[in-house]
Amino acid sequence: MPGSLLALSSFDPRYDVIVIGSGFGGAMAAHAPVLAGARVLMLERGGWVERGPHNWEPRGAMELTPFYSKETPVRVHQGRRSSTIGLYNCVGGQSVFSGAVALRFREHDFAPDPEILGDSQARWPFAYQDLEPYYARAERLLDVAGESGVDPTEPPRTAPYPHEPARLAGTSDVIARAARDLGLHPFRLPLAINYQNGAARRACQACTTCDAFACAVEAKNDVATAIIPALVRAGMDLRPRTVVTGLVLEGDRIVGVDCIDRESRRAWRAHGTVVVLAAGVLATPHLLLCSGLDRVSPAGHAVGRYLMRHCNGLVYGFFRHPPNPAREFHKQIGIHDFYFGHRDIAAPRGKLGCIQQVMAPPIGLIQARVPALLGRVLSLGVDHVTGLLAIAEDTPQHANGLTIDWAQRDTYGLPLPVVRHEYTARDLLARRALLRQARRVLRHAGARFFYVHSIETFSHAVGTVRMGLDPTTSPLDGAGRYRGVRNLWVTDGSVMPTSAAVNPSLTISAIALRAGEAIVREMAA
Ligand SMILES: Cc1cc2nc3c(=O)[nH]c(=O)nc-3n(C[C@H](O)[C@H](O)[C@H](O)COP(=O)(O)OP(=O)(O)OC[C@H]3O[C@@H](n4cnc5c(N)ncnc54)[C@H](O)[C@@H]3O)c2cc1C
Repeated sequence: MPGSLLALSSFDPRYDVIVIGSGFGGAMAAHAPVLAGARVLMLERGGWVERGPHNWEPRGAMELTPFYSKETPVRVHQGRRSSTIGLYNCVGGQSVFSGAVALRFREHDFAPDPEILGDSQARWPFAYQDLEPYYARAERLLDVAGESGVDPTEPPRTAPYPHEPARLAGTSDVIARAARDLGLHPFRLPLAINYQNGAARRACQACTTCDAFACAVEAKNDVATAIIPALVRAGMDLRPRTVVTGLVLEGDRIVGVDCIDRESRRAWRAHGTVVVLAAGVLATPHLLLCSGLDRVSPAGHAVGRYLMRHCNGLVYGFFRHPPNPAREFHKQIGIHDFYFGHRDIAAPRGKLGCIQQVMAPPIGLIQARVPALLGRVLSLGVDHVTGLLAIAEDTPQHANGLTIDWAQRDTYGLPLPVVRHEYTARDLLARRALLRQARRVLRHAGARFFYVHSIETFSHAVGTVRMGLDPTTSPLDGAGRYRGVRNLWVTDGSVMPTSAAVNPSLTISAIALRAGEAIVREMAA
């Protein structure tokens, strides 16, 4: 540990449950224990994202904000290319910057076809029906607005969506009509957004700074807005700006969680009966491997492995007249006709994924990523652009994942994470097939030129500490408990054996709610 850090303090709080990370996975896992009256400590590396007009500015998007941090740099190798990325650190995790799409996995996603599974031995330990009540609860907690009965792949549900969708923007209407003309079945994307003005909350203003931005008026039902304040009021002890640096194992139990306060640099150790690790798909295996916990798991070889992130791509259509002159929110339409494959698509056979509307790219991100003059020119054309996102399910592969470079350390003394990731030929073919269909829809809607962009981020990353029934291939059991350590649970996106082909947050939430309930049952026994 570097000399600048103060020595481990004697501060010795004891808790029933310690939750590491405050994203969907951490907050939803904390929910049942907090409501059951347990003493819960939530440790979060980042601070609160302040809300106000600055969130709407070009530099309010994703990696341009101070909440995207390279304090612990992640080296990423993709084929011959290498780069260094950071991670989102704030109260609420990535939910704060997310696009708020809250889709359930499809029923068949829990029993994927062989062409997706490859030789990964991935198996979901439960069926859709087992998770359905938790999906319904997650939708209530996140106040999701959606419509049933239109999406041809929609799984059965026991409760209607809590809210009706908002008014359809003009652009969305044009896209939906074009898709219907082509014989498709466009549906309204379910969104975790608040459309009701009330004493405590302001309603969505239908602005175009939603996906990739924090909501300036707190109308997005992200975890920092919709979940954590209620947990804190109910007694949860939240410690923002606290970095967890290690899990201390004695026998088959975690007996301490080592932390460093980012302000004072004071090191201290927290103690809890149960520890829930929900630091995110890259930070969770990083902590497990740095703490040597792969060595006590019968599936230790799988810790950090089978990283998936969907094979995502964007196609933007350029229209002669601005397709969204009123500058309204328009991430509203989904198309699932190709989800499980399509008779018109010869390759690849089988599952493909989904197509969703996206906003025009944030001007700040365009200007940050291309040379200054080109950035200014492209910014002028943004009003003539609207786009569709293709999300293809990707194959879990042992070679894709996170390992540790023990020779290099971050500012807290932790060895650095290294990620290796490559798509299979099938992943790339599936994305290409979806992008072709997306371009057809945009062309039918009136677009004249197209720009296709592959998404290289880890925003939809899942896997790395997967669940499963086989103790030799899955580090987590069917409830989310870490095999080999009796009191350790994992509840973030890393638990997923396969990625399905819809946005992951509602499934992370449902699985974490289910784990939280199991933790309460166990504490009561
Ligand atoms: C721009 C963007 C748009 C997206 N849009 C959508 C969408 O529309 N729909 C959807 O379903 N999904 C969307 N996603 C994906 C979704 O947001 C993530 O899958 C989800 O938020 C992951 O939740 P999590 O709990 O697994 O991890 P995270 O949200 O990453 O939470 C992990 C938390 O742990 C904290 N942490 C990490 N390390 C430590 C440590 N050592 N000590 C203490 N705390 C630590 C982090 O600071 C973070 O707050 C989007 C993502 C991005 C980036």
